[in-house]
Amino acid sequence: MKIEKEKLLNDYFPIALEKLKDMIRIPSYRKDDSSGKPVPKEIADCLKYAIDLCQSFGWKTFIAPDNRYGYADWGTGDKLFGILCHLDVVPGGDLSKWFTDPFEPIEKDGKLIGRGSYDDKGPTLMNLYAAKYLMDNGFEPDYTVRFIFGTSEETTWECMEAYTERERLVDLGYVPDANFPVVYAEKYITDADITGKYVSTFTLKGGEVYNAVCDIVHYNGPKTEEIKAYLDQNNIECVAENDGLTIRGQSAHGSFPHKGVSAITWALEAINEAGIYHPLAKFSNEYLHNKFDLKEIVGDLTDETGPLTVCAGKVDIDKTEFKLTFNLRIPCTRDPKVDVNDKLQAFFEAKLNSQYQVVGNEDRVFFDLNSDTIKNIMKVYQEVTGDTTSKPIAIGGGTFAKSMPNLVAFGAEFDIDNTSMHTNNEFVLIDDLKKMMEIYVKSIAILTKN
Ligand SMILES: [Zn+2]
Repeated sequence: MKIEKEKLLNDYFPIALEKLKDMIRIPSYRKDDSSGKPVPKEIADCLKYAIDLCQSFGWKTFIAPDNRYGYADWGTGDKLFGILCHLDVVPGGDLSKWFTDPFEPIEKDGKLIGRGSYDDKGPTLMNLYAAKYLMDNGFEPDYTVRFIFGTSEETTWECMEAYTERERLVDLGYVPDANFPVVYAEKYITDADITGKYVSTFTLKGGEVYNAVCDIVHYNGPKTEEIKAYLDQNNIECVAENDGLTIRGQSAHGSFPHKGVSAITWALEAINEAGIYHPLAKFSNEYLHNKFDLKEIVGDLTDETGPLTVCAGKVDIDKTEFKLTFNLRIPCTRDPKVDVNDKLQAFFEAKLNSQYQVVGNEDRVFFDLNSDTIKNIMKVYQEVTGDTTSKPIAIGGGTFAKSMPNLVAFGAEFDIDNTSMHTNNEFVLIDDLKKMMEIYVKSIAILTKN
């Protein structure tokens, strides 16, 4: 089928953009990221918004009674082609760093700024309207095309746990929640808690999620002047408030910890420098501060899918106990248990007299570079973008491609090295949204034909 680019961008794109703004206005994040909690109202509202939109296209829709997920089917094919998106977002983080309310989208310098603009509401809307364009123009997929909407990708993944338990798995499909051209490998991911007991002279609390660099912590305790002076010297924002100090860094996605400025490790470094002892501060200073691969503990685990990375997302030091969280991205050819977790457990027991406990695991994805799916995707990507040098890639991020077999992460970030996902002022270039839409129209047209 011939795709008329003009028609797509003039008649479909502007509506998709307006719907995207509507969706960003729904603050669909979780305040509590622990398991077993009901889906918050805002996320359920966002799910209903997406499902209502699909229903208006004439697709068959379903919302799980517990709002864990929803889906919409287009076509009547026997086989199922999945497009997996997620409607939850990470919280706004430090609101003082935003140009705007994270949930009030604005257009500025060719960008759409707002939480979820790139992760994952932008790609979701571009895919929905890509499919609608095809449907309106007489394209009939051989597969039934199923849009699946998750509600807890940024936190517990209970959405896809519920989906895979209750619903039909896909025969083929993609997840527009990573980067272009296509992701053939995804590292293992481990979340872990380090907990221990120590009588502390101070408290330090901060961080909202495992998988983002912590950008704000609060310190209460002695020697605030020394701590502040040290941070000032290093250009780390630190203000006296609430009988203590508020220390600010820069948030970043958990798979790119080196792109952020960790408020946690800077605070612990300053505490150390002020001459206050705490085992966690000592550990952070030696192994974590401005270091991201734990090489000194587990050795160099780098393979063709990249290095091990560690992100310490949350800290809670009180008068008698302490806790720090790790989000680890483990290269595809390594064994998470033997090569990483067993070593860390032994290390923390021996060196900090503390517990290292794995609280979450995601399997790797390894795709065959010579499969039709990868070849077709690469062909479309090259045709639309003219980029013939980029190759299928390996990432540290974990997408829904891990939730079922036969899924590959495909788009939608063009410039992953400078991604704004999970950071302040998350944005997507309007031109990139248009390119996305064109790529997905052509891909759906090829991939859903036998
Ligand atoms: Zn995402």
